[in-house]
Amino acid sequence: MVETQIKARRITDERILKVMKEIPRHEFIDGALESVAYQDSPLPIGYGQTISQPFIVALMTQLLDVKEDHKVLEIGTGSGYQAAILSKLAMSVVTVERIPELYQEAKERLYRLNCDNVIVVKADGSIGYKEYAPYDRVIVTASAPKLPEALIEQLSDQGLIVIPIGNRISQRLETIKKDGDTIRRERGEGVIFVPLIGKEGWQ
Ligand code: SAM
Repeated sequence: MVETQIKARRITDERILKVMKEIPRHEFIDGALESVAYQDSPLPIGYGQTISQPFIVALMTQLLDVKEDHKVLEIGTGSGYQAAILSKLAMSVVTVERIPELYQEAKERLYRLNCDNVIVVKADGSIGYKEYAPYDRVIVTASAPKLPEALIEQLSDQGLIVIPIGNRISQRLETIKKDGDTIRRERGEGVIFVPLIGKEGWQ
């Protein structure tokens, strides 16, 4: 997976490549799908949700530019796979999921895999999670109609947000940097994510 889908597609950060070789993706999906766990596509995780394509996970992680002393907020825990990867790159991760069953499964899975620096929260992450703010990095793994204001408020100075923004069918990955009072936005890759449902997301 790492050699043919990720390294071959301009993901060059050695830390990310190493972590993606180490985290067992098959642990994050239903046993019935184990034989396709490492294929080049998103996979269903129940409740109409998905674990993202490995390349998209790698791309978003590289855009996020995570350092070892960072506190990261992830919105959209899903299976917990992205959170597990971030946990090996950052100091700590707060990950927020709105669907109770996915929250519970991810929490148990991350505990079993010794991702001790991850806090899993059940909440509407479209308004961020102000209890542990500020965050050095914020990653949203569901698609938003606009940039949620709360995420900017909860971001440290010099912090970065990576988020898919667009309509219900397709989006662009945006990277947002906070530099004092200035917010710089860059639009990148076209992507297709499940919707961010909530107060500052889709209704
Ligand atoms: N990062 C996940 C992984 O590694 O498996 C994949 C995330 S999946 C593409 C999107 C997730 O966002 C779903 O689990 C969905 O329930 C969740 N979600 C949607 N709206 C949300 C919200 N407002 N707050 C928290 N989670 C939300």
